[in-house]
Amino acid sequence: MSQVVVVGGGVLGVSAAAHLAQRGARVTLLTEAGLASEASGRSLSWLNSAGDFPPAYHRLRLLGLDRYRALGTHVSFRGGLRWGDGVRASYEHQSAIGYPARWLTRDDVAARVPGVDPAAVPEEGALFNPDEGWVDLPALVDRLARDLVAAGGEVRTGVGRCAPVMTGGRVTGVRAGDGAVVGADAVVLATGAGVPGALAGLGVHLPDATSDALLVRTAPVDTPLAAVLNTPRVALRPAPGGALVMDAGWSEAEVVRRDDGGFDVHDSTVAGLLQEAAAVLAGRPELTVESYGVGRKPIPGDGHPVLGPVPGVGGLHVAFTHSGATLGLIAGELLAGEVLGEGPSPLLAAFRLERFAA
Ligand SMILES: Cc1cc2nc3c(=O)[nH]c(=O)nc-3n(C[C@H](O)[C@H](O)[C@H](O)COP(=O)(O)OP(=O)(O)OC[C@H]3O[C@@H](n4cnc5c(N)ncnc54)[C@H](O)[C@@H]3O)c2cc1C
Repeated sequence: MSQVVVVGGGVLGVSAAAHLAQRGARVTLLTEAGLASEASGRSLSWLNSAGDFPPAYHRLRLLGLDRYRALGTHVSFRGGLRWGDGVRASYEHQSAIGYPARWLTRDDVAARVPGVDPAAVPEEGALFNPDEGWVDLPALVDRLARDLVAAGGEVRTGVGRCAPVMTGGRVTGVRAGDGAVVGADAVVLATGAGVPGALAGLGVHLPDATSDALLVRTAPVDTPLAAVLNTPRVALRPAPGGALVMDAGWSEAEVVRRDDGGFDVHDSTVAGLLQEAAAVLAGRPELTVESYGVGRKPIPGDGHPVLGPVPGVGGLHVAFTHSGATLGLIAGELLAGEVLGEGPSPLLAAFRLERFAA
C-alpha cells in the first residue's frame, strides 16, 4: 500500500487526499493552519464552464460540474446570469458548442431569475446558464476531510510551513514546520498560491499569475436570489445562512499588499462593493458587511490548470489552478489515479507542467 502525503488543506488537497484514501492509499494530509484557511475559504465558487476555453479545458470543467451534481450536497445549481460587454458573443459561442444558454430580455429576467432588478439589466438583455451554480467550499472541504478520516487517513492541521524532503532526485517525505518528517512514497503539493515558490525551491519553474483577491460577505439579506450573478461591477451569489458573498475585478485591484505580506482593505472598497451589489438586486436592499476575506488567488501563468507529476522530481505531483472550485472534485479524483500508478489520465494531458519548458 502506498504512503502518500498531501500538503495543503484547500479543496484541491483535501479532494485528492480523500480520493487517495478511498482507493486504498495510506494518506496523511498536512496543512499549515486550519482547513480552507486560504483561497478555498474565501471563494466566490461559481461552478461554470462559461468562458471561451480550449476543448480539453471545457471538457474538464464540464466533468467538474458533473461530479458536483453527483455529490448533490454543499452545492446549489440554480443557474448563472451574466450581462455586460462581450456577453452576447459569449452566448453565441456557448450556443455553438452546446453549453446550455438562454438569452433573456429584461421581462424574462423578471420572470425567471428572482431577486434581480430587471432595470439593472442592459436593454440588450442578459445571458442565463441554467446548469451553473455555486459550492459552499468550506463545508465541502470539511466533508472531504471527514471522508478522508473515515477511509483511514489522517488530517494534521496547524503544522506550519511544510517542504518536500528529497533523496537523490526523488521525494521521500515532507518536513513539517516543527521539523518533523513524515515519510512518503509520493507527495501531492496542493499549497495554492504557495506552489510556484515551493517548486522554485526544487529548481522547477512554474509561471505564476497569482493575484490578490477580496471576498465580502453580508449579514443575512431578505432576497429570493438563487442564481450566481456576474455583472460589470460585481459578481455575487447567495451563501449559507441567508448571506450574500461578492467580489469584483476593481475591488481586487484596490487591495493593498503590505511589505510584511499581509493585506489592507479600504472601508470604501467594501462599501463600494455592497453598493454595487444592492444596485443589481430587486428592491435595492440595504446590505451590511458581516466579514471579508482577503489574500492570494492561485493562478498559473497561462491561466490554465497545472495538474500531475513534476518532471525531474520522482514521486512529486502538483495541483495548482485557477477555478479550483469548479475543478476541485474532478482534479482530486484524476490526480489520485495517477499517484496510485494507474497511468497518465488523458483528461489531464493538456495540463502538465512540461508545457512551460519550451
Ligand atoms: C475571491 C475568489 C473568487 C474565486 N472565484 C472562483 C469561482 O467563481 N469559481 C471557481 O471555480 N474558482 C474560484 N476561485 C478559485 C478557487 O477558490 C481556488 O482555485 C481554490 O480554492 C484553490 O484551492 P487550493 O486547494 O489550490 O488552494 P487554497 O485553498 O489556497 O489551499 C492551499 C492550502 O495550503 C496551505 N499551505 C500553503 N503553503 C503551505 C505549506 N508550505 N505547508 C503547508 N500548508 C501550506 C494553505 O494554508 C491552504 O490551506 C476564487 C478564488 C477567490 C480567492
